[in-house]
Amino acid sequence: MSVVVEHLTKRFTAGGTPAVSDVSFHAPSAAITTLLGPSGAGKSTLLRLIAGLELPDSGSVRIEGVDCTHLPVQKRGIGVVFQSYALFKHMTVRQNIAFGLETRKLPRGEVEARVDEMLKLVQLEELGKRYPGQLSGGQRQRVAFARALAIQPKLLLLDEPFGALDSRVRVELREWLQSLHEQTGVTTLLVTHDQEEALEISQHVVVLSDGRVAQAGPPEEIYDRPATPFVASFVGGTSVLRGHVRSGRAEVGTLVVEAPQSAREGETVQAFVRPHDIKIAKPANGSNELTTGRVERLKSVGGYVKVLLKLPSGETVTVEVPRAEFDDLGVVEGDNVHADVRMAKVFLGDFA
Ligand code: ADP
Repeated sequence: MSVVVEHLTKRFTAGGTPAVSDVSFHAPSAAITTLLGPSGAGKSTLLRLIAGLELPDSGSVRIEGVDCTHLPVQKRGIGVVFQSYALFKHMTVRQNIAFGLETRKLPRGEVEARVDEMLKLVQLEELGKRYPGQLSGGQRQRVAFARALAIQPKLLLLDEPFGALDSRVRVELREWLQSLHEQTGVTTLLVTHDQEEALEISQHVVVLSDGRVAQAGPPEEIYDRPATPFVASFVGGTSVLRGHVRSGRAEVGTLVVEAPQSAREGETVQAFVRPHDIKIAKPANGSNELTTGRVERLKSVGGYVKVLLKLPSGETVTVEVPRAEFDDLGVVEGDNVHADVRMAKVFLGDFA
């Protein structure tokens, strides 16, 4: 394992709530690991602790087997890219990329060769003589990657690197980052609040909530087998329905599923339903709570339509229907439809 974090805790105010609280996780070598969570979850603080930009109250950070907990930033062998480009405005692209190499006192020829290599890697060969102010946001961020990678870091740390860019460029750069990673193979830690970005880009995901690890694992596991209600609702745009435990099973309308362990008869459960795990059909042909829904709102989002359904219980669920399928259905707002919930992840406990 390339990065091993153990029992890391950081408070900014004595006796206050820790920003990072007893966090342990590992990031596999040569993979992209994302630190995923809502704003304030402690992602940036955790990344800064790993970078050495903050010191922990307790716990340890090991990079490639070396205990770095108290090493200064420049001794950790890391490259960092932040959301704000943090390029030197008065230096050209080449000079920005060369900066870290020059502070390491590499011979001139070697610096020039490495800068050429980096410009090629980030596909900006033509723009070496420009200043940051003459580049687009996406190009500036690619220069920031080139500068971070020029020193051949053991670990690349990325703090919301595409957060300041518009959504089209963000999606483009996501793909670009994946191919960059395939070429360099450098172990990468990426901070993001965007679950889609995390699921798409990374091989390992660490979900953070209130300064703690809520779940860590491969993206499929996080998505398909969320460990807590928080992970289930944060990852995947789920709807939550109320159900009850009967004869050892969890009943949510007509849906009967495995009850959580330790469930007692009559207890309330929360069922998390993914937008694509509900199938709708017309016309409604049942009266049970979960098999009938009234279409409250329709919203077209690219290749699919989001259908907001209101159930007789008053609960609402969001369903995603692929465009072509929706056109065949011929559903309009106000219609009653048959709604078949196919799968849900069920947790014990009532609603907060
Ligand atoms: P995230 O990156 O997930 O949005 P942060 O790590 O930035 O979360 O913040 C976690 C918590 O720590 C927040 O409550 C934030 O206000 C607090 N925090 C972060 N940096 C500082 C700081 N330098 N001084 C005081 N509090 C901070």
